[in-house]
Amino acid sequence: MDRSVKQKLVVVGNGMAGMRTVEELLALAPGMYDITVFGAEPRVNYNRIMLSPVLAGEKAFEDIVLHTRAWYAEQGIALHAGDPVVAIDRQRRRVRAASGREVAYDRLLLATGSQPFIVPVPGSQLPGVVGFRDLDDVETMLRAARAGGHAVVIGGGLLGLEAANGLLRRGMQVTVVHLTGSLLNQQLDGDASLLLKAALECRGLRIQLSSQTAAILGEERVEGVRFADGGECAADLVVMAAGVRPNVALAKEAGLHVERAIVVDDTLQTYDPRIYAVGECVQHRKNTFGLVAPIWDQARVCAAHLAGLGHRRYVQQATATKLKVTGIDLYSAGDIVGGAGSEDLVLRDRRSGVYKRLVLADNRVTGAVLYGDVSDGPWYFELIQRRADISAFRDRLLFGPALCEAA
Ligand SMILES: Cc1cc2nc3c(=O)[nH]c(=O)nc-3n(C[C@H](O)[C@H](O)[C@H](O)COP(=O)(O)OP(=O)(O)OC[C@H]3O[C@@H](n4cnc5c(N)ncnc54)[C@H](O)[C@@H]3O)c2cc1C
Repeated sequence: MDRSVKQKLVVVGNGMAGMRTVEELLALAPGMYDITVFGAEPRVNYNRIMLSPVLAGEKAFEDIVLHTRAWYAEQGIALHAGDPVVAIDRQRRRVRAASGREVAYDRLLLATGSQPFIVPVPGSQLPGVVGFRDLDDVETMLRAARAGGHAVVIGGGLLGLEAANGLLRRGMQVTVVHLTGSLLNQQLDGDASLLLKAALECRGLRIQLSSQTAAILGEERVEGVRFADGGECAADLVVMAAGVRPNVALAKEAGLHVERAIVVDDTLQTYDPRIYAVGECVQHRKNTFGLVAPIWDQARVCAAHLAGLGHRRYVQQATATKLKVTGIDLYSAGDIVGGAGSEDLVLRDRRSGVYKRLVLADNRVTGAVLYGDVSDGPWYFELIQRRADISAFRDRLLFGPALCEAA
């Protein structure tokens, strides 16, 4: 290949994974590619995580923009925002966008993310039913909040609780409906979940656990929700926060190997060596992803391979999560369920509202659930990642690094 001629890289998806990969690539191999980015959303790349504070009124959209139009221009990147790619021709190595624009590629990067899973019950397509994924969703919710009334959020996971908190702060009455018997059941154990429920109810949220949505009611638009037990509740807005589905239709139609998401190897390459994929649209060693930490790792690895360096390999790591609701501190990292042979260390201080549980296996911390006092969270997370032997300070482990390091 003539190295003096720039290769063409086309990125499908102007979101967090795609643009992080481009940033890493520009750092490793500036000028190696002519880069074209297609985005379905009609705007520049922004920090999707911060949509929750935007909904809650703690930040404005301008505060969460990651790359301005000027940045794309300075980097020589052609940005086609609001023009989704609708077809990939792998033989001719070209993509076609909704506008009809066609662009050729030497390397293609798919970073199409996910979309909210809309629970397929009668009425789920009515106006007033919304997911929580992009700025348009936030604007729909804000319009509803200006009119006041009652919102029902389906899903008591991180996203659902952040949506509920935002709508509450915008003046709506909010009910969270959750399928299982405890909130954040993927991140918290039963005790921490009860503390969280009490704190959220104190703020005015209504929480309905073990509740299955049977139908969304309404003629022209949403008027209520019916549950499997026959109960009903009025609603002017329904937010579906019951999981996501990777955007894989484009890859599937192009004949790439897709299971739950686009299957990639340890270099983030798909089954077509010209095509890479990163972010929530990928499946790596059977897993899919919904947090940015693993996606940043994927971006580093993928960029190294696009840069022709080939010196990195993606390895999945434990992840940590927080709830972005101001005033509620919780932290969850690693495997909080435990298995045969694992043990728990628990500290419970009801009066000060502090709960800590560490899961141990073979003298190592494998998981941590913290509520109320999360200051040691990153330290426990580091112990998990380093697989550190904690036998020398096991008796002090719950009291944090200062006492342990003294030991
Ligand atoms: C409200 C909210 C709060 C969150 N909070 C956290 C948090 O606290 N911590 C955390 O780790 N993670 C959080 N996440 C998850 C995190 O934002 C995602 O994991 C991350 O954005 C995934 O990046 P991605 O690039 O794969 O997908 P996205 O950021 O969704 O980007 C994909 C982009 O591709 C576009 N696209 C799709 N199809 C096409 C096409 N055919 N052509 C062109 N463009 C296309 C989409 O419109 C989208 O803009 C949150 C997510 C949301 C919605």
